[in-house]
Amino acid sequence: MRSSTRSPPSQNASNRDDESESTTALPHVGTNHDGSRIILNLDVRAKRNECVFPRYPKWVIAFLQKKTNEPEDAWVVLTFLECFLLVVVPGVMLFFVDTNEKKKTRRSFWYGLVWFVITRALFLQRFTLALHYHTHVNAVRAKKSEHFKRCLNAIPTFIIAPFFGIPAGIYWYHHNAMHHVHGNAAYADLSSTERSRRDSAFDFFKYWMRFLFLAPIELSMNMLKYRGLVDAVRCYSNVAGSFAAWWYLNANVNASAANWTLAYTHVIASLGLMFGNWSQHIFVCPDDPRNDYKSTYTCINSFENQKTFDDGYHVQHHVDSRMHWSTFASNFSRKETLEKHAQEDALVFEGVHFFDVGLCVMLGKLDYLAERYVFYGQKKRTKEEIVMELKRRLEPIEYDIKRR
Ligand SMILES: [Zn+2]
Repeated sequence: MRSSTRSPPSQNASNRDDESESTTALPHVGTNHDGSRIILNLDVRAKRNECVFPRYPKWVIAFLQKKTNEPEDAWVVLTFLECFLLVVVPGVMLFFVDTNEKKKTRRSFWYGLVWFVITRALFLQRFTLALHYHTHVNAVRAKKSEHFKRCLNAIPTFIIAPFFGIPAGIYWYHHNAMHHVHGNAAYADLSSTERSRRDSAFDFFKYWMRFLFLAPIELSMNMLKYRGLVDAVRCYSNVAGSFAAWWYLNANVNASAANWTLAYTHVIASLGLMFGNWSQHIFVCPDDPRNDYKSTYTCINSFENQKTFDDGYHVQHHVDSRMHWSTFASNFSRKETLEKHAQEDALVFEGVHFFDVGLCVMLGKLDYLAERYVFYGQKKRTKEEIVMELKRRLEPIEYDIKRR
């Protein structure tokens, strides 16, 4: 096990802080498109910002580091702890806002709205990415016989996730068992972007609506086809159970609280998750769309990486989904890794993150992305050629359905 090299997470810390420190230890990645700017990998030494609270006692961090699979996963656990205490507990309290029937609905609405806005702004992105990496490799180290620890590992997906609009127990089926296994391949991966016109807002709207309304059925059918009846039944039960819980709470306990905590959150989560996946797989090279180096790209030196467990390194995440998040930045900067990326002509941007890239594409701002394109040894291109290449990778990919 590696020793931790992380500093305590700080809300105010940004990767730019590191620029004031010596940059000699930062790995050189490449240059911008015309070679006028040298690009170092600032993510390697950036302070974590996944936790909203700026400081935790050293003994708390030391204790968690002993219990987690990797010492850095202490931040994953602390992110979950913050989400439980500051999102789930207040969310449950919404159901008991007022016992006065006349005032109940109105007060519930406003309390729910405040809860919704604050928790989405502070925790949605942080929790989603904590859940993501936790689903790949459990944060708490647990042997098969250690049932208590295994229960702790189940809390994020079964207890916390519904308050972020993700039905209990469903994330693994959609993300790990489907998206990673089929790697954005049309038909097999329901969230595939291959066949969409990826610079079209209308095509994205259709993509989002399909997920929002058909995912419960389509995902269960997908599990039946590729994993068998047991997983299909489990998957469907989790979705149906979540829906039943919302329906019961809506009808019998507090409709406003049920909608704010479980229904409206689901709409926002579906939009965030789908736009996130759309943006991550927005540039797909038509020459080899199933190649992980060509179906997604890498974002370095974005402050969002420090809030999302270095999620910008999506190529590496697809190449090896069990690679630990804390090693992405340093591994990416290795000579061999960069050479492999260059050989595959993988796209790398700096100073932007996936949502920025998705928005730039939707708004037709490819020249803005070309300014942030990193040349690190791959085929040399002028700014105009970069824009042409990005356009080429936006074209819908059509292929013979019989070949799938
Ligand atoms: Zn993943």
